[in-house]
Amino acid sequence: MLLTQLQKFYIVDAMNVLLVFIVGACVGSFLNVCICRIPAGKSVIFPRSRCGCGEPIPFWLNIPILSWLFLRGKARCCGRSISPRYLVVELLTACLFTALFLTYPFIPNFVIGCVFCSILTVVSFIDIDTMEISDALSIGGMVVGVVLSTIFPSWYSAQISSDTVLDHLDALVYSIVGVASGSGLMFWIAILGEMAFKKEAVGFGDIKLMGMIGSFIRWNGCLFAIFGGCLICGIIALPILIFLKVFKGKDFKMSGEIPFAPFIVVGSVAYVLYGQDLIAFVCGTGY
Ligand SMILES: [Zn+2]
Repeated sequence: MLLTQLQKFYIVDAMNVLLVFIVGACVGSFLNVCICRIPAGKSVIFPRSRCGCGEPIPFWLNIPILSWLFLRGKARCCGRSISPRYLVVELLTACLFTALFLTYPFIPNFVIGCVFCSILTVVSFIDIDTMEISDALSIGGMVVGVVLSTIFPSWYSAQISSDTVLDHLDALVYSIVGVASGSGLMFWIAILGEMAFKKEAVGFGDIKLMGMIGSFIRWNGCLFAIFGGCLICGIIALPILIFLKVFKGKDFKMSGEIPFAPFIVVGSVAYVLYGQDLIAFVCGTGY
């Protein structure tokens, strides 16, 4: 059967999407390594991955997503269970990359989106594990954000052709203002939180993280991320707290230790993927 022009077009599109999904899964596999090693201060490149028992993992058992499914979450060498989180991070990264690819057809913008979402993924999972945000990710990410925004003004202007010196300077200034406004906003949330709860509600790590987010998505993105993050935190955390309060009664004590970063991260990713659409939807105008 002869393929029509349209069918060929869809096949090429589908192949591209599949390729991006596979690349995303491979990057997710690397992010897993970062999540394990960065808090311990180890190199993320050397040595090669080993099983908990010390056996090196051969490459055919290190294929993103597929290996975990094939092994059903049990190491072949010693039968220890492999955390399903490896699978979750690989799938999540693959899906994020695919969604970014469909949102940003201009390749440099797609790559910047991938870098931003990768840093955020690592930050969230480390924050869930350790309640800490590494400076390598927040301050290092901030530098990456400022540099990439300056080199590719198209990332924010939505005009692919923006390439004059003025465009680059404009992007640099906006990115630095993003750092200042993001961390500033979080700083005031920390002060107000401390006044309200009489203890530290937001840490310095969150302030630096918000600076990193600002370097990528500027002040308006920060507002969206914080507002969205609080909203999601409320929607998810409140029913759980009420459930625990009702079922555990007097035994239930509010420890107050909820990692806040993952919620801001979800808000930031939502902004990068659907921010303009969501704002237009809420405001009822073409923003
Ligand atoms: Zn083993």
